Amino acid sequence: MSKVRCAHCGCRFIPNPRIKNQRYCGSIQCQRARKASWQRRKLAADPDYQADKKEGQRDWQIRNPGYWQSWRLRHPEYVERNRMLQQKRRRRHVAKMDALRQLLETKTGSYYILPEHEGMVAKMDASTLKVRLILSG
Ligand SMILES: [Zn+2]
Repeated sequence: MSKVRCAHCGCRFIPNPRIKNQRYCGSIQCQRARKASWQRRKLAADPDYQADKKEGQRDWQIRNPGYWQSWRLRHPEYVERNRMLQQKRRRRHVAKMDALRQLLETKTGSYYILPEHEGMVAKMDASTLKVRLILSG
């Protein structure tokens, strides 16, 4: 029997002849990784599965009121990190919307022009935006 390389840990293992196209070894971590991968793909592809999961989570939340509130109290470092990331996302969003507004205001003729090296860019904090010319229509 020839060995196969595990898709998670990379070890070489002898696949179970009863499992067709076995890609993961039998270790508990690799089996968890296999299941997680399956669930990610299933969630992305199957709206019914997605709806069932959502409903299950809602039911669980009803049976366990206050769970997340007490979890956050027990993990203040997570709460702080999440708050920071959320503020960062909010700032980035505001910057993007400002840049978009500027882009629309500077529309000239059949082009949208966004200068890259002028004071306007600094004001917009749009270093990630690299738009120069966009054809309209
Ligand atoms: Zn493995």
